[in-house]
This record gives sequence, structure tokens and C-alpha cells, in this order.
Amino acid sequence: MDIQAPRGVRDILPDESWKWAYVLNSVAKVMADFGHSEIHLPIFENTELFSRGVGETTDIVEKEMYTFTDRGSRSLTLRPEATAGMVRAALEHGMCSQNAAARLWCWGPMFRYERPQKGRYRQFFQIDAEVLGIAGPAADVDTIALSVEMFRRLALRGLRVALNSVGCPQCRPAYRDALLAYFGANRDALCETCQARLERNPLRVLDCKSASCSAVADAAPAIYDHLCPECAAHFDEVKSGLARLGLPFSLDKRLVRGLDYYTKTAYEIISGDLSQGAQNAVCGGGRYDNLAESIGGPHTPGVGFAAGIDRIVLVMEEQNCSFGKRAQTEVYIVARDDASRPTAQVLAGKLRSAGISAAYDAGDSVKYARSFKAQMKSALSARWQCIIEANGTFTLSGGGSDLTLTEGELVNYIEEHR
Ligand code: AMP
Repeated sequence: MDIQAPRGVRDILPDESWKWAYVLNSVAKVMADFGHSEIHLPIFENTELFSRGVGETTDIVEKEMYTFTDRGSRSLTLRPEATAGMVRAALEHGMCSQNAAARLWCWGPMFRYERPQKGRYRQFFQIDAEVLGIAGPAADVDTIALSVEMFRRLALRGLRVALNSVGCPQCRPAYRDALLAYFGANRDALCETCQARLERNPLRVLDCKSASCSAVADAAPAIYDHLCPECAAHFDEVKSGLARLGLPFSLDKRLVRGLDYYTKTAYEIISGDLSQGAQNAVCGGGRYDNLAESIGGPHTPGVGFAAGIDRIVLVMEEQNCSFGKRAQTEVYIVARDDASRPTAQVLAGKLRSAGISAAYDAGDSVKYARSFKAQMKSALSARWQCIIEANGTFTLSGGGSDLTLTEGELVNYIEEHR
């Protein structure tokens, strides 16, 4: 076949999709336990939502968005992340008016034109949780606790919470100046990309992964010396809140995240196990008190996170975590001869109505029907194989020795032994 899935986009096949169902079931329970309601958001939005919300100088907006013009000449963009859409929806529907908080979550595909590699795709899936309408640090602590609990229930090991504060519009300009002066003096040691973006966004040099920039960034001024009293107090309370809950974290002064909207708290959860050339952040988030205003809404503080489902499943596979039991068809019905094929169809219907999962060879005419041997081969993947005999009885195998049963006995036996 000459048409394949586009580069960086993959099919989640049945051998993997059942693992996703397990992860999402577990996540839905944690979200409910933390008071978050599920919301379904559109996959495309007006382009302006992201250019204004995520920030014009971010990698996402500058070079990663899938933007297109529709037949009505509107500029639309496949969502590269969920937070901006979540805030837009909450404001549009008045979900956090009168200072009432909205606790929401969603999951689904995001789209970024990135260089594909293991754990990094152009269509990838995120779980996203947001608390809108609370300015205080307890909401940050609760959000971090929610993400940690999500991973604890999935039994992921070796995760590390990296924490930072990125300040606010009051304290960031002075820090930005200090970084500009420092990186400016070391300009020749920076990679080409960072040299080019230094004036526009010096904070991004801090999280550049190139070896040369890393060495320079390690000795860069720390934001902690530049936080305004409000941001410093907020940061202290987040740290003491996490300590109170017994949640370990490490400070990372180079953690700035790739989206402009963050204020104060920024954090990531990193896995030691996505090491061999794969991306190692499984979750990232923080506070974004000015996002709502930047998209034209009233001041609405917010805090949340996004976690990558593709990467969670990858880490769980690497760590041999349990995905529960894969659903298996209970009974596969096999017709020994052509005359009993209609009986297979009727019996499958009866079993399914009784809540027993059943399959059979759906070739319903002699022409398309498969041989007894071929049917038996398919049947082996089911819990039981049920052969329809010429005399109208059923031979059930799969539970030790074969049993000869009538139809009524068959349903009772399965109900008792499943
Ligand atoms: P971000 O929205 O960039 O803060 O990313 C949050 C999480 O989404 C990351 O920690 C990853 O787990 C996941 N993620 C981000 N970009 C990708 C991608 N291109 N492919 C797969 N997962 C991704």
C-alpha cells in the first residue's frame, strides 16, 4: 500500500490500546477523588487562542502548530496543548464566576510539528487537569499531589518531582535583564538557536539541552534571588505544603517550561526510565495567573498540569507495571459442519444477551465460511471453545476435559465458571 500514516503519527493498535484503557480508567478515578469533572474540548480552536495564550515567542507558536485556513477563511489550529482551550471554555461558560473555582480535566490528542523520536510524536495524547479561580498556593500543592497520586496508583517507580518558580510580571523583568547580561557576556558559548533567541526569550536558554548551553546555564543567576516578596512567599508555601504531605521534590532553577503563560510555580515529573534516547518528562505543569487576561477574559488565576499518555504507557511497559487483565472473548463458537453455522449465529446472540462475550466465524454462507480447523485456530484465543455437533449438542473445551452440554447447561456452566 502506498499510503501510510503521516510522519510522527501512529496507530494505537489493540495490543496497546487495552493498556490505555487501564490507564485512563485509573486516572478518571483519581480525578474524581480530587474533585475534578471531565470536560470534552474541541480539537481545533481559533489560532489566536494559542498565539495570544501560549505566547508568540514560544517554540510551539513559532514553529510547531498545525495551522490551516478553513473554507470560510478563518485561521484555525489543531490544539498543541489543552490549557488554553480549557480556560477559554471555562470563561465562555461562566464556570468560574464569583470566584468559585472550577476543577476540570480532559484527555485527548494534541498536535505539534516536532522532530519525531521514541516518546515524541506529532500527534500525542495528554491527560490535562486544571484548577481555575484559586490564587493561593494550596491549589498548587493540590495539583502536584494529584499528579503524584495518579502515578502512584499506576505503580510507576523512580519518578522525581522537579520544582521551580518562574516569578511574575513584577519580578521577571529584572531577572530577564540579569540573564540577558549574563548570557550576553557568554554569547559565543551558546548554541545557534539560543544565540538567535537570546534577546526575545533569554529564559529559554535555561532549559536548552545542548551541552554548551547547559554548561553556561548551570552557572546562570538563579531566579530565587529575584523573586518579589509575593512570589517568594508563594514559593515557600508551596514547598512547605509539599513537605507537609510528605511529597519529595527537588529544586531545579533551570526549569522554565516551553510556554509563556506560566507564573510562579512550574514543575515537571521526570522518569529515570525513559533513558535510551527517549524523552523523560512524563508530566509538566504550573501556575498561569495571566493566561485568562491574555485571551481577553477577566483576571482568573489557574494552576494545572499535562501528562503524556504515550510516555506513561512506555514507562509502565519498561517497568513491567501491571495493566490489569486484558479483556478476552469468553466463548468462541465453532461449527463442525456447514449445517450448524446458523446455530452458531443464534447461540452467539443468546450468549451475548446473557452478558457473556461470544464470537464465531461470521462467514454466513458456505462460500465464505472457513474450515473447522481454521475456526478452531481463531477459537484458541477465547477462554472457551464451543463446538456445535451434528446431533445438536455442544462440546465445550478450555476448562480441562471436554464437556458435552445442552444449550441451557452451557449458559449455566459458563456463568458458574467464568
Ligand atoms: P507540555 O505540554 O510540553 O508541558 O508537555 C506535557 C507532557 O506531555 C510531557 O511531559 C510529555 O509527557 C507529553 N508530551 C509533550 N510533547 C509530547 C510529544 N511531542 N510526544 C509525546 N508526548 C509529549
